Amino acid sequence: MLRRIPVVVALSSFALFAQQDTAVPKAVPAQATSPASPAPSAPTARAAAATPIPISKPTDIPTDGSGPKITFSQCHVDGQYIALTFDDGPHATNTPRLLEMLKQRGIKGTFYCVGQCVAEYPEIAKRIVDEGHEIASHSWSHPQLSSMSEASVRDQLEKTHQAIKQATGVEPKTFRPPYGAFTLRQRKWANAVYGYKTILWDVDTLDWKHRNPAKTESIGLAETKAGSIILTHDIHKTTIDAMPTLMDGLLAKGFKFVTVSELVAMDKPAPVKVKATVANKAGEPKPASGSVKKAE
Ligand SMILES: [Zn+2]
Repeated sequence: MLRRIPVVVALSSFALFAQQDTAVPKAVPAQATSPASPAPSAPTARAAAATPIPISKPTDIPTDGSGPKITFSQCHVDGQYIALTFDDGPHATNTPRLLEMLKQRGIKGTFYCVGQCVAEYPEIAKRIVDEGHEIASHSWSHPQLSSMSEASVRDQLEKTHQAIKQATGVEPKTFRPPYGAFTLRQRKWANAVYGYKTILWDVDTLDWKHRNPAKTESIGLAETKAGSIILTHDIHKTTIDAMPTLMDGLLAKGFKFVTVSELVAMDKPAPVKVKATVANKAGEPKPASGSVKKAE
């Protein structure tokens, strides 16, 4: 179990923000701060409107210095383990519908919830936890954190952490920054204060953009590999519509669904591509190429 670091540490650690850093991923398009059609009275709708921000597929983030790895866009695991993630909820109807689909298949997922939606639908947040899934933080109101003040970022994370804890009784262990925009310094701070690993993704279904179940299914099935972290959004009906086929297709391929924290716990150092020279035993001629590449 994670333990919260006392507030005094949080405050002192905040100095980590003082210096600007390069955001990960590197580029967030200009329209990031221009929600398409905000609905003033509905937090869920606000989160939905703020979602469609294309970012380039994040690269695998290497270990930050010499310490433990704190950022993951995929994991390197033994076995066909994957993590299916759902962002921007809870949603009043789509999330419960999804939970039924997961329950029917015995699949565990990870929900990156927006704090203000947790505050609006605490009973759905509690159900997520009660049914064995991981609930984690996706900020309070889905802003682009990498360009915000230290105090504002702290407010976003603290309010969400407390809302999840209050609604579910558990403290989130991982964090997914909206748009993937979170500087290295911010990631280190979030890890120091909350113990958060920053979680990105390697499979982007683009479900929020095309709103096409068949595309969500085909991208998810084509791009998922062992250790993948799959990005979807449970606030869209079309995403939920895609889930039975996507989940059944991934099960048929032999994938095993685990939560993000379980996947991260299985992570091992990235395999090194070895250029192995073929052993030159007595009497055996070397191959013409002189060497072969050994796939790991
Ligand atoms: Zn989001």
